[in-house]
Amino acid sequence: MTENFIGSFTQQEPIPADAIAAANAVMQHGRLHRYNTVDGEIAETALLEEEFAAYTGAKYCLAVASGGYAMTTALRASGVQHGDKVLTNAFTLAPVPGAIAAVGGLPIYVGVTEDLVIDLDDLAAKLDQSKVLLLSHMRGHICDMDRLMAMCNNAGVTVIEDCAHTMGAAWDGVPSGRWGRFGCYSTQTYKHINSGEGGLLICDGAEDMARAIMLSGSYMLFEKHRAAPPPETFAQIKYETPNISGRMDNLRAAILRPQLRDLATQATRWNERYQVLEDQLSDVPGLTLPNRPAKEQFVASSFQFLLLDWGAEATETLMNRCSARGVELKWFGRAEPAGFTSRYDSWRYAPSEPMPASDRVLAGIVDMRLPLTFSLEDCALIARIIRDEVSIVYQGMMAATA
Ligand SMILES: *Cc1c(COP(=O)(O)O)cnc(C)c1O
Repeated sequence: MTENFIGSFTQQEPIPADAIAAANAVMQHGRLHRYNTVDGEIAETALLEEEFAAYTGAKYCLAVASGGYAMTTALRASGVQHGDKVLTNAFTLAPVPGAIAAVGGLPIYVGVTEDLVIDLDDLAAKLDQSKVLLLSHMRGHICDMDRLMAMCNNAGVTVIEDCAHTMGAAWDGVPSGRWGRFGCYSTQTYKHINSGEGGLLICDGAEDMARAIMLSGSYMLFEKHRAAPPPETFAQIKYETPNISGRMDNLRAAILRPQLRDLATQATRWNERYQVLEDQLSDVPGLTLPNRPAKEQFVASSFQFLLLDWGAEATETLMNRCSARGVELKWFGRAEPAGFTSRYDSWRYAPSEPMPASDRVLAGIVDMRLPLTFSLEDCALIARIIRDEVSIVYQGMMAATA
């Protein structure tokens, strides 16, 4: 009997009851705009910022409209100007080069290793081309941050972290987002806490945060922020900084605060699911799993494996066979961008030099989400299906070349 999987890879858990109650309270009083408070009231948005700053250990935090907006704000506040080159990952998602393009910058792509992290040797070779690295911890894979920071500090390159997939994760005990000058997070539905759309930006620099707050559209209401530098910091910055509205509202903040309190529990549940898949797929011929170093404390909201050197035909066959059994996999090697997935060479507004070693890795990356609506049994079933189908297709390939 062939087993099939019937769950949905895009179905999140419901918003928790306490978050729904908090949202209802905001809707009851009607003050959804973050600066619309009555005497003595602290806006949900300002409270979320305080709590997220405390959670990450950052001095300052700003809640914004999206992860992409957090990144453009960090780039602007770091002084990136029209025409500036910005280093970033070849393996990432479209909002990352998009954030660079939004400030008029030109992405320079840095390669990806078989462990799905930024290629630090390729970075070393390109460090002299830019003053800023927008580092994407794509799919939650964290590179050797000690080495990366030493390299960038030596070269005078500012690091901005894209933590869309690493909220709650750390390298060697230091939270992801706390290594660079800014950490940028998304609270979009497919990330670690869910407000539909939304973003958070953290940093320790008083002037950096004052600029970010002014940029986000604070008018002259910056004193209503709490995880923010003192009013004196704004003395000049308030005149110099354009208002590019991208604020978060109190409704979103209200549903995020209870989810932030649950994040550690959720991270454990994600990692239990990841472990089931990793255990069952660790010795399948033809399938390679990325190494996860002991210093990497990840939050596995998704799962990746590599089919190195399989070629398009065999990989498509595998995708189709898994899909027929209910396992929807995403393949980064597809020539045409599809769904959420596209590759650096499909971002034609920012062309690149050829990167053959990265192309080989990208051509092999297979990706799936691990929503918490999956049980551990669901993950075991998915792993069995992948294992069986990889074995069948791989044995066929081997027989054909024998
Ligand atoms: C989702 C995502 C973002 C940005 O998120 P939005 O909130 O959708 O703008 C940034 N980087 C990566 C890698 C992402 O997956």
